[in-house]
Amino acid sequence: MATQRMLQFVTTSKQMPSKRAADERREDFAEIYREFAAEKAAEQASRCSQCGVPYCQTHCPLHNNIPDWLMLTATGRLQEAYELSQATNTFPEICGRICPQDRLCEGNCVIEQSGHGTVTIGAVEKYITDTAWEKGWVQPGKPMVERDQSVAIIGAGPGGLAAADALRRAGVQVTVYDRYDRAGGLLTYGIPGFKLEKPVVMRRIEQLEAAGVQFVLNCTVGQDISFDAIRGKHDAVLIATGVYKSRDLEGPGAELGGIVKALDYLTASNRKSFGDEVPNFDSGLLNAEGKRVVVIGGGDTAMDCVRTAVRQGASSVKLLYRRDRDNMPGSQREVQNAEEEGVDFVWLTAPAGFEGEDSVSGVVVQKMRLGTPDASGRRSPELIEGADYLEPADLVIKALGFEPEALPTLWGVPELTVTRWGTIRCDHATHATSLPGVYAVGDIVRGASLVVWAIRDGREAAESILSYLAQPAAVAAE
Ligand SMILES: Cc1cc2nc3c(=O)[nH]c(=O)nc-3n(C[C@H](O)[C@H](O)[C@H](O)COP(=O)(O)OP(=O)(O)OC[C@H]3O[C@@H](n4cnc5c(N)ncnc54)[C@H](O)[C@@H]3O)c2cc1C
Ligand code: SF4
Repeated sequence: MATQRMLQFVTTSKQMPSKRAADERREDFAEIYREFAAEKAAEQASRCSQCGVPYCQTHCPLHNNIPDWLMLTATGRLQEAYELSQATNTFPEICGRICPQDRLCEGNCVIEQSGHGTVTIGAVEKYITDTAWEKGWVQPGKPMVERDQSVAIIGAGPGGLAAADALRRAGVQVTVYDRYDRAGGLLTYGIPGFKLEKPVVMRRIEQLEAAGVQFVLNCTVGQDISFDAIRGKHDAVLIATGVYKSRDLEGPGAELGGIVKALDYLTASNRKSFGDEVPNFDSGLLNAEGKRVVVIGGGDTAMDCVRTAVRQGASSVKLLYRRDRDNMPGSQREVQNAEEEGVDFVWLTAPAGFEGEDSVSGVVVQKMRLGTPDASGRRSPELIEGADYLEPADLVIKALGFEPEALPTLWGVPELTVTRWGTIRCDHATHATSLPGVYAVGDIVRGASLVVWAIRDGREAAESILSYLAQPAAVAAE
């Protein structure tokens, strides 16, 4: 029924209406859309066969009780569905929007496995919590009893925020330190707004503030305040700083203008959407409008760059990746989205150098083929000699992945043990690091990973920190 109304609405007259008519039309659309979304969510939820072997749940890092909240949605019991969904997930509407569901819950749905197309679990999860926000069911997690103990969280990304929420609900005094001017980490400045609308992130941060979480922004730990000073001020510390050191490109011309880092490019675009002044965007350096754009890399960050460039009005967008489609790390769903939007994927290619005067005008592209599988089972790319060609380009975006910064050196704490990859070494069950009372979560432990894993880590670490704070030694140290 709502589907029919929606169709009717979009196919009716598109003549330029008066302002009043346009406002009315917008309101009508909002109402029809709400009905349409409700109908679709119930329809999808009722497709769940309640199979009794919920692989979807086991393959969700948070082990969300998916079959039960689908059943509640199918029968119109939305508030109960919301209560159940938020019991295991701090930010369900965010995961519903940006989890790579094809690799997690939906990829393991029994209906998908039997060839009938997955239940769209992520979309239903998003619908349930968006409705909860609309209806006022999402309330700040204010504690019943306040405690004197305080915890510092370094990094306001999803890992840090999930821990902040759980600790604050337990009455702990929580201070979150972040070097950016807004909280949210990559939710705010990395992931583009067309995948995750920024008001959806900001309303969560406002709720944490309303619950009593203190944010100290524009504060780089190791520069504006020392790690030791933070340890001295708080009873426990959680490190949730993510990974930000971009892998770089080498070769002739790699230093030319117009060759930029993916995160600089995406951050500029996200800042513009907040209405910030971004001189490097306004000068054109970080703006793809009217340009021939070449993105180098095969992960989800590369996918976000190509899709952002399309939206900025690039004249062409090409992605160079040294393996083929089946061997790329990025989500296949994202590749399909990008292809539908007009992105040209140039598989089995790698940059050998760059041409141009001051600014880049082309990429020297080497052609590759896949050789025998390496130790990890992935087939390694091999160079095809003599097949190079020049790809014209005005903007080249490097999206080759991220590595951890050397925190023990930057923070002057050599006792903080790291792995050979530079990630913080910690106990995987408790998230305790080599320093007493110091815990770590998210990408700085796992390497570049996913939001849903950071949320899981943050929730688990909060439990461990609460146990630590309950020990007599921690109380005596106050
Ligand atoms: C472009 C891009 C797109 C992505 N898309 C997706 C997606 O669609 N789905 C998905 O699940 N995952 C996605 N990811 C991965 C996901 O964003 C991360 O796995 C997740 O954000 C990690 O959370 P975190 O809390 O560990 O760190 P982050 O989100 O990186 O947050 C770390 C915070 O720590 C702060 N910080 C760092 N050092 C300091 C310091 N010295 N002092 C103070 N503050 C500091 C940073 O400013 C930042 O705010 C994407 C990643 C990128 C780069
Ligand atoms: S949190 Fe992610 S993996 Fe888990 S049910 Fe939601 S969308 Fe699926």
